[in-house]
Amino acid sequence: MPKKPAEHNQTEPETTDADALPPLDDAGQVADAQGADALQEPVLSDRRWQQLKNRLSGSKFRSRFQLRGKELDYLRQKGMPTITRHARDFVLSRLSVIDPDKDGKQTPMRGHPVFIAQHATATCCRGCIAKWHHIPTARPLTDQEQAYLVDVIRRWIEEQAKDSE
Ligand SMILES: [Zn+2]
Repeated sequence: MPKKPAEHNQTEPETTDADALPPLDDAGQVADAQGADALQEPVLSDRRWQQLKNRLSGSKFRSRFQLRGKELDYLRQKGMPTITRHARDFVLSRLSVIDPDKDGKQTPMRGHPVFIAQHATATCCRGCIAKWHHIPTARPLTDQEQAYLVDVIRRWIEEQAKDSE
């Protein structure tokens, strides 16, 4: 059984199937059916990103996250390539394994632009990733799934940075 959702999710309404995204193969990203070359392809299509944003905007919890203050300064200092590398590291070290330690609590609410992005995009823990992105918790994340999550985080941060210019 998956662990109980983290406290930060408890006020969130259940996602219904009606507003759920189709499984990951929608944008040509079937992990099993593609070779290593597939990793070179963009994993998050514009359409899929728009659909996800629409769904996230329906959550009060998710949409209250914004990049500001220290996290925004940090982003400007480091630049997007470095921040994307951090996102990759966090996804790999905190999310990619089966049943990560303290799932639902591994992503702080502040302190790094990627953390903020993860809460805003429901990529903060395996419970939220299962619920919003339909990636099951009972197995490690594939490379493709990790790349997808990093892409979600990156797109969100890029849009926030643009909005704050
Ligand atoms: Zn979460």
